[in-house]
This record gives sequence, C-alpha cells and structure tokens, in this order.
Amino acid sequence: MANMISILGSTGSIGRQTLDVVEQLGLKVAAITAHSSVERVEEQARRFSPRLAVMTDEAAARDLAVRLADTPVRVLGGLSALEEAATVPEADTVVTAVVGMVGLRPTLAAIRAGKRIALANKETLVCGGELVMNEAERCGAEIVPVDSEHSAIFQCLQGCADRREIRRLILTCSGGPFFGMSREEVGKMTKADALKHPNWTMGPKITVDCATLMNKGLEVIEAMRLYRLPLEQVDVVIHRQSIVHSLVEYRDGAVLAQLGTPDMRLPIRYAMTYPNRAESPAEPLDLLHCPPLTFAAPDRETFTCLALAEDAAREGGTACAILNGANEEAVGLFLQDRIGFHDIARLVRRAREEVAVTAAPTLEDILEADQAARQSVLR
Ligand code: NDP
Ligand code: MG
Repeated sequence: MANMISILGSTGSIGRQTLDVVEQLGLKVAAITAHSSVERVEEQARRFSPRLAVMTDEAAARDLAVRLADTPVRVLGGLSALEEAATVPEADTVVTAVVGMVGLRPTLAAIRAGKRIALANKETLVCGGELVMNEAERCGAEIVPVDSEHSAIFQCLQGCADRREIRRLILTCSGGPFFGMSREEVGKMTKADALKHPNWTMGPKITVDCATLMNKGLEVIEAMRLYRLPLEQVDVVIHRQSIVHSLVEYRDGAVLAQLGTPDMRLPIRYAMTYPNRAESPAEPLDLLHCPPLTFAAPDRETFTCLALAEDAAREGGTACAILNGANEEAVGLFLQDRIGFHDIARLVRRAREEVAVTAAPTLEDILEADQAARQSVLR
C-alpha cells in the first residue's frame, strides 16, 4: 500500500482524480508536476504541502516560485526536473500521469530509484516497453497499472503464478463517439465531435485516441509489454457500456472479468492500496439497473489506427515508438484544427513507411525514432 506519493501530471484528468483518492485514503504527497497550469499547481501545493512542485514550462516555473514564496515548497522548472520529482526520496510510489512519451525518462528514473510505479502514462510503455519492463525487473520495481483495462487484467491475474496458464487477454473498448458510422461519415467528424466521449471524461489527447481507436491499439501494446505476451494472445472486443473493464481467458476455458462503474478513481485506488483494498465512496455497480452488456468485433477498416498499432506491435523494435510519436504529433495537429480525422491515420501510416525500424533498441534509438516520426508528420 502506498503511503507517500509523487504525481507526474497532477493537474490532468488522472492527476486530479489521484488527488481525490489521496484525500480519501489519507495519503501524503511528496511532489507534484504540471506543464503550465500554474494556478492549479499553486492550489494543489497549498492543499497538499508537497516538498517539490515542478512546472516543465520554465516561465510557468518562475511564476509558480513567486506565488509559493511564502511556503516551504521547492519549485523547479524544465523537463529534466520531472526526473527530480520522480525520485524524491520520501515517496514510495510514483503516479505517472503526464501525457505522452515525455513520461519515459522520469519513469525510468523512478524505477531505478526503486519506486513502485502506478502507471497511467501508456505512451511510456508503448515506446520503451521492453526497456522499462527489463529495468523494472532488474531493479525489483513493481509496476501497477492504472489504465482501467490493464488494472482489470491485473486484478483477474491475482493468484496466477504461471503466465503459461493464460490463453488470451481480452481488452474491452467502448468504440468511442463514432462507433457504427461509415468511413465516409467518420471523415467529416470535427474536433468537437471527437472530444465527446460516451462514457469517460479524460484529457484531450486520449479522448481523440479513443475516437480513432488508436487508444485501444496503444493499450494492446501496453498489455503485451506489461504481461509479456505476444500479439496473438491479446484481443479487442467492443463493449459500449464500459462496465466490463477487461477479461482474462485461462487455458482451461475459464474467463475472469472485472466489472465496475466507469470511474477512473477505482483503478487509481487499487494501484494505491494493492495488494489490499479500501472502502470507496464510488457509486456501486447496480447489475439490476445497468444497461444490457453487449460485445462486438471492432471495425478495423473504418478505424485503421487499431490495425496500424497491431502492425507495429507485430514488428517490434522501434516500430511502436514511431507509431506513437507520429500519433502524438498528428493528434496535436487535429486538436489545432489543422488536419481532418482520417489524416491522423494517414500521417501515422506515412511515418511508419518512412522511418526505418531498429531492432532491440536502446533508449537513444527510441528517442531518435520518436523524433524522426514527428518530423515525418510535420513536414
Ligand atoms: P491530461 O491532458 O488531462 O493531463 C496531462 C498532464 O500532463 C497535465 O498535468 C499536464 O500539465 C501534463 N503535461 C502535458 N504536457 C506535458 C509536457 N509536455 N511535459 C510535462 N507534462 C505535461 O491527460 P490525462 O490525465 O487524460 O492522461 C494522462 C495519461 O494517462 C495519458 O498517458 C493517458 O493516456 C493516460 N490515461 C488516462 C486516462 C483518463 O481517464 N484520463 C485513462 C487511462 C490512461 P498542464 O495541466 O500544465 O498542461
Ligand atoms: Mg484504458
């Protein structure tokens, strides 16, 4: 069970919900970080009295230092300060809730410092999966997933001592706001349409990823890395109600699922209390009044991002870092209204065709592949 935590990305959707859980469980906060949301960080710093507050935007850090001058909170600026927040000696657990592969270096730093990782930042595992998992094994650092599907699988795997007993993992997918539409209809959808997720309220990048189904593709790769399974053992089913959070099928045919209301505080809480559980104020699941639970196959022809991610997963090496870097840039362009919905997949595919894949990559290879993919999208 966590006692004192650092939160990388404390002002985001996951970061704020983590602080709710912190209050409910009476945990302490050692460090918080954000990019530029100064007012929110100031308010959080006054409420939770961390030892360290980091703004990755340097100007925001200077502003925060002035605002917090009457407090003992230390303020640091810049990307490298994320590593400082990830390794604060007092913290036993680091919640990685920044968006994007900027989370990779601080996650590695936290692992090397022997912290337990509550991992929300999926881009980190997608880009640096093998590296992160090998380093965690070497340092004896525990990685507990926060992503709801991976938390569900993690819960269904409790008591499974031998991974060979797993036949397959089944990730559920809400289908996003454009489920059931034709490819032509989807092509006309705007940023505002993509930002309306049916079941979850999340940051803008992951919300767009849910609309393209890239999120599910990233989650397939995340599951392969976390549980060290090949692509053939990770399936996706559409489940519109987001009540069954994912399933594990064992080799004797038994299928275990984890169910609950769609509330991220549930997996966050479990990552904090694991291997125990704690009382929660969350609304209990009312099976008699929840909608009928339905399951369907994903439409990989309309939502080609899922197939692109599976391709990258199959190829391995830096292919996933290229996929992710290109996707981060393309989603950024879509959020600035500079490209259309289907252009996201088109630009990711182009980057995958243009950037050569390196097998068994080092951290430098991964960072280079990420940069090359971004440049391919932006040219
Ligand atoms: P948000 O966009 O809501 O929050 C992102 C956080 O990261 C904010 O604190 C933000 O600071 C900070 N940040 C943004 N850009 C940078 C940067 N360049 N450098 C450092 N910090 C930065 O994202 P979410 O909370 O939705 O998602 C966070 C991660 O968790 C993602 O990887 C996502 O895939 C994953 N996740 C999220 C879920 C959800 O329900 N939201 C569910 C499962 C996984 P600032 O406020 O200053 O911009
Ligand atoms: Mg998820």
